[in-house]
Amino acid sequence: MKDIRRQFQSLIDRFGTRILLDTEHYPDYARDASEITVSPGAIFFAENETDVITAIALCREASVPIIFRGAGTGYTGGAVPITNGLVLSLERLKRLEVDDVQKRAFCGPGIITIDLMQQAEQVGLFYPPDPASYDESTLGGNVAENAGGLHCKKYGVTKDYIIGLRAVTIRGELLKTGVYSDGDLFDLTGVLLGSEGLLAAITEIAVRLIDLPKTGPTILAAFDTAEDAARTVAEIMRNGIVPAVMEFMDGDAVTCSNRYEKTVEIDRAEAILLFESSGHDATATAERIHSICRTNRAILLRQEDDPAKAMLLWKVRRNLSRAVKASAEMKIAEDVCVPPSQLPKLVAFVNELDARLPVRVNSYGHAGDGNLHVNFLVEKTDETIQPLIDQAVKELFHKTLALGGTLTGEHGIGLAKKAFLHLEFDTSTRASMKKVKAVFDPTNLLNPGKMFA
Ligand SMILES: Cc1cc2nc3c(=O)[nH]c(=O)nc-3n(C[C@H](O)[C@H](O)[C@H](O)COP(=O)(O)OP(=O)(O)OC[C@H]3O[C@@H](n4cnc5c(N)ncnc54)[C@H](O)[C@@H]3O)c2cc1C
Repeated sequence: MKDIRRQFQSLIDRFGTRILLDTEHYPDYARDASEITVSPGAIFFAENETDVITAIALCREASVPIIFRGAGTGYTGGAVPITNGLVLSLERLKRLEVDDVQKRAFCGPGIITIDLMQQAEQVGLFYPPDPASYDESTLGGNVAENAGGLHCKKYGVTKDYIIGLRAVTIRGELLKTGVYSDGDLFDLTGVLLGSEGLLAAITEIAVRLIDLPKTGPTILAAFDTAEDAARTVAEIMRNGIVPAVMEFMDGDAVTCSNRYEKTVEIDRAEAILLFESSGHDATATAERIHSICRTNRAILLRQEDDPAKAMLLWKVRRNLSRAVKASAEMKIAEDVCVPPSQLPKLVAFVNELDARLPVRVNSYGHAGDGNLHVNFLVEKTDETIQPLIDQAVKELFHKTLALGGTLTGEHGIGLAKKAFLHLEFDTSTRASMKKVKAVFDPTNLLNPGKMFA
């Protein structure tokens, strides 16, 4: 404890008991949704941007590593601490100002995604990027991971809505990009987007909002095989139909969701697709979706026009991550993405893994983007199982890349995928990424040990 105190002394001198050294009382701050757990040296809840500037400057002088944190819902260990590090939580920076004339909002990084969406909706505006964690995740975490969401196919992901950032660098200096800066040239917003806490602390986010579209019907389609559902997705894309939401869930995932909270009666289904159409042509789009589902052997088609009833259908999807986790002792969640035309092949490969491995393997995801969350579900851990899963994960990554896809649909690299970065990015690209990191953080104090193996 003495050594720890010494390391954080300058921070304690400045912030007193706000530097929390009794980290064992804050177990949630030792992990994120990846479940990788490491106790930090100390935790600090910043109340404002000045706190962030001061804390970072003091950490730099004392060579204390810093791990920025939003809500800790990340799946790849990005917010997992290191033992001698300071967890710098941004969750209390909650400024939210919606400008309905210029159609934009200024948000503290601690704003929960759904709160921005609801405030925007009150003035007829829409912030579309809605990760399934939208009732927990922070906007700071969304920017740092470039989060996707259910509406991403039609409306885009986080990066498509960020028009400026305020951020604090390791030198304790304020960086202003996009609308916060004086000019449009050399916009550094894109450099910070998806930077996973490696480059700077994001302290304010300016987002653009769009007019709230007219929401059309929600459609649930059930299929006898996962491949039929995946082929339907490919067919819908090929026909130029753009649903506002198109989500895929395999049969095991649907069972998990039903056991967790039964909101819809589905007798049997080896896979389901959930659609929402929106905009002036929502009804016509819904009709075309019905027709393609029927051609691809849908065994059940149900449409809800009443938003309250549609919510029950969406709960099947919104509950999924927690439901799948609750269904086994251990969940190893991967997140890959292929061109939607290749989704049938990827889904078939996941089924093959499920048949071959001594654990359940299920999948679901934002199908319009070809995004698939593949979960390895272990009922009872023993030392023979982990190597088999490790091998299967490698095969999954190789298959994904062979199908023209990417290793991370939306969950980032963090700790969990850093050993695989070289599979997707060649040596010179990785070297350039490291050079950017070194420019921002020459002494490697910001989230060290992440992203690069
Ligand atoms: C149930 C569930 C469903 C999910 N569904 C989706 C989904 O549909 N789409 C999707 O993309 N993701 C999804 N995720 C993953 C996760 O919610 C997102 O990655 C989210 O953006 C993380 O936000 P957070 O506030 O929890 O960030 P954290 O987990 O706290 O942090 C994530 C990373 O961002 C960094 N960071 C956080 N805040 C800041 C900041 N202010 N400045 C600099 N760096 C920062 C951290 O250091 C870390 O590297 C899901 C997770 C769960 C548990």
